[in-house]
Amino acid sequence: MTLYDLIICGAGPAGSTVARTAAKAGFSVLLVDKENFPRDKVCGGGLRPEIMESPAFSYVADRKAEFLENESLSVRMYGSTPSNFIAYDAPANEPLIYGTSRRNFDDVLFRLAQDAGAKALTKVIVKRIDIGKDQVRVGLDNGKDIKARIVIGAGGMQDPVAKVLREREGLPRSWRTEEIGLAVAHEYEVGEDFIQEHYGNKNTIHLHLKPEGVYGYAWAFPRRTKINVGFGAFLKDIKGTDIKASFKSYLSLLKKSGLFPKDIDRIEFKGARIPLRGPIERTFSERLLLVGDAAGFVSPISGDGISFAMSSGLLAAQVAGECLEKDDCSKKALSEYEVQWRSRWDKDFKVLCEIADMVEKDLDGIISNFSKDEKLIDMMVRVYNGRARPSEVITKMKLRYAKTMLFGGSSKKNKKR
Ligand SMILES: Cc1cc2nc3c(=O)[nH]c(=O)nc-3n(C[C@H](O)[C@H](O)[C@H](O)COP(=O)(O)OP(=O)(O)OC[C@H]3O[C@@H](n4cnc5c(N)ncnc54)[C@H](O)[C@@H]3O)c2cc1C
Repeated sequence: MTLYDLIICGAGPAGSTVARTAAKAGFSVLLVDKENFPRDKVCGGGLRPEIMESPAFSYVADRKAEFLENESLSVRMYGSTPSNFIAYDAPANEPLIYGTSRRNFDDVLFRLAQDAGAKALTKVIVKRIDIGKDQVRVGLDNGKDIKARIVIGAGGMQDPVAKVLREREGLPRSWRTEEIGLAVAHEYEVGEDFIQEHYGNKNTIHLHLKPEGVYGYAWAFPRRTKINVGFGAFLKDIKGTDIKASFKSYLSLLKKSGLFPKDIDRIEFKGARIPLRGPIERTFSERLLLVGDAAGFVSPISGDGISFAMSSGLLAAQVAGECLEKDDCSKKALSEYEVQWRSRWDKDFKVLCEIADMVEKDLDGIISNFSKDEKLIDMMVRVYNGRARPSEVITKMKLRYAKTMLFGGSSKKNKKR
């Protein structure tokens, strides 16, 4: 039986990034996924600018013709009533968000990993993880076993590697209910003309926070010929809610605002859980690392996790590579991964949780105050899309917010729609 350097459970953005990076560095890598690629994946399909602009991911941007549908340069963010809103137009060279369909995007990442030399096994479910002295044995649902020196958990919220790691590290066996979000979405084909006419040249994205009849955060993202419609909320808040009725209610609101064709009545969506309270307490153990959603790397204010998945994938591949080279895959050696991601993101996740709590408490007050000050809006948008580090701007934001509440703000644009 081949002993791989790395086996990666899950070929989403996190797993394929680990696989590509490690294979490129010369390690033997096996990427395992329960699906065949290309596969659909429920998502808003919003890519943070980092993915398309950072040198670390230039190899992805180089393939944009295969997955990129558009860029959005403008956003409208509404409170619980459509009249309470924030409008923001980004500079032409700084798109707010790039739009894709996960079927194409994930497939490109998956192929990039294989082009770099990673082997792939699809339509196979990882079932068991047994950690031995010199290797990890991975049991598959087809009855076969495979083995590696290090195993990476990149299987999202239900990742089987994470379950083993949690048990070994004395963490709760699964996510706590209050950490879990549920998001649902569907891409409706509406044609290029509708998008042009109703979303404009800037491909304006529309975010509705707790709109009537819908608990949570809802969105309408234009794609080239489609609209990606969805909403997400904490599981604890929508327990017992009729999701289908909420989806219908949101489509009605979009129709009333001219953002959705009146003649489409189909209610279609798929949903998935997402971690919404930041990373879990421990992301490494003997011969194991967790990346992406499996580790909880998702923004608590927006639910976006693709860029964190890819960045954590890069970091995990680097640290795992160093450990493999030194032939030291101990828990202590792999702890370097957590040291590094914590120094980069720990404070940011804490601030994002703080902002999420503030929005939860006084959503309409916050939207109304932000809408009075263009600089405040600019800061908030940059925190949302990752152009600004939350921990670096939060103090400035709070001071400016207090000033706006006391003395009013400077915005002209937000007085009209
Ligand atoms: C409705 C919705 C909208 C979202 N919108 C956005 C957005 O607009 N922008 C954004 O950045 N993020 C968004 N997210 C979050 C984003 O989808 C995740 O953060 C991202 O997919 C995480 O990537 P990942 O590689 O960690 O996991 P995933 O993308 O979930 O990939 C995990 C892979 O592991 C495989 N797998 C799982 N278990 C096993 C197993 N036992 N054996 C083998 N294979 C397995 C799965 O088949 C899958 O391919 C959204 C999420 C939802 C639910």
